Amino acid sequence: MSRGGVANLIRIGATHIERTMLSDRDGPVQELLNTGFVADDPSAYCPRCGLGMGPNEFVDGTCSACRRAKLPWGGVVRLGPYEPHLREPIHQFKFDRWHAVGEHLGRALGATVAERLQLVAEQAGEPVSAITSRTVVVPVPMSFWRRASRGIDHAGCLGRSVAQGAGLRLGHWLLRRHRPAQTGLSEAARKKNLRGAMRPRIAPDQMGDPRVIVLVDDVMTTGSTIHEACRVLHEMARARPGDAQEPPAILVATVAVSGSKPRRSAPTPLVRSLPAADAAMVQKK
Ligand SMILES: [Zn+2]
Repeated sequence: MSRGGVANLIRIGATHIERTMLSDRDGPVQELLNTGFVADDPSAYCPRCGLGMGPNEFVDGTCSACRRAKLPWGGVVRLGPYEPHLREPIHQFKFDRWHAVGEHLGRALGATVAERLQLVAEQAGEPVSAITSRTVVVPVPMSFWRRASRGIDHAGCLGRSVAQGAGLRLGHWLLRRHRPAQTGLSEAARKKNLRGAMRPRIAPDQMGDPRVIVLVDDVMTTGSTIHEACRVLHEMARARPGDAQEPPAILVATVAVSGSKPRRSAPTPLVRSLPAADAAMVQKK
């Protein structure tokens, strides 16, 4: 799908939601549209770490921010940077439980996921169905207690809309133990807080043989949460019976990426890149 097509899809989806779910009220989705919001052009950010970058900054599969970073995922898609035009709708979705906003953002994100998988398929010289039929959308999990107190599982809601928007299978494969909120913690404290916080929800042999796992979260800040989720997913993949199966690549799909730099060392073994032909966009070993 062309970029124009994606932008169009986003506008159509939002208009539909406005008409059907928000009636004639001015809401955050309308505000988003009023600002002329469309998802970032893929050339506006690094497809590997998700941070914004200038022209010609992406060299040999990395940008200047992630050049020396070893990342446990193969690539990132986002709608935009974590700035007010996205921060406000994310907050309304997350803290005011405005589901329509989450669904809109999720569908828009699903369109960017579909676009990236199309690119992967083109580079691999395969029909896109060969990739999408073996792609699973996995939301970053929320603990039972946090969900009860917030009244919304925002990553789960986003994941559902991403799966619907991109025509992909949804898999709630991870569980999370309750820990203090990450907000306001340093990167080191976040990492410590998250250690052992996630675990598999399914047995490894129930994963099947996915080529791509689309890991969905609302905002990527330091990446600590995504790192922990990737660690568990890789462990699950390695624990599958039989040794013929290729490890799946992880594509992180997040509404917004905040500007902080990715960490410089990896706590986990590297994921292999997205299906081989996508290597130029992802991991440079
Ligand atoms: Zn980068």
